[in-house]
Amino acid sequence: MGDAFTEQDDETGQDWEVDTDNKIYCANCEHCILVKSSAGRGGQYYLRVRCDAGKWRKKLGEEKIYKYFTVARRSLDSCSDYIPMGDPKEFIRDLKKNLPIKDEVYSG
Ligand code: SF4
Repeated sequence: MGDAFTEQDDETGQDWEVDTDNKIYCANCEHCILVKSSAGRGGQYYLRVRCDAGKWRKKLGEEKIYKYFTVARRSLDSCSDYIPMGDPKEFIRDLKKNLPIKDEVYSG
């Protein structure tokens, strides 16, 4: 995941189902970007992820953004824009250990 922080809409959606060793994990791709989404209270915010290659779309074509704590579930059979950031197995294992288990509010 990259770390370019910008304000984004708070959009969630269904989870992508498959989670096996043969999959591409979006979290391990340079295009998977962590962004802040204002929680509407002072400087508080939620964490969201977006694909800056524009691959995550709703049916009508708008961009789809997911809650950060679900990022390890974002996987695909293939993706023409996938740019791996490291060994996927190791990366996802460590990510799963460190991800929050629910949508957290952050501040600062
Ligand atoms: S470019 Fe493809 S693999 Fe990378 S985050 Fe977007 S959808 Fe996932």
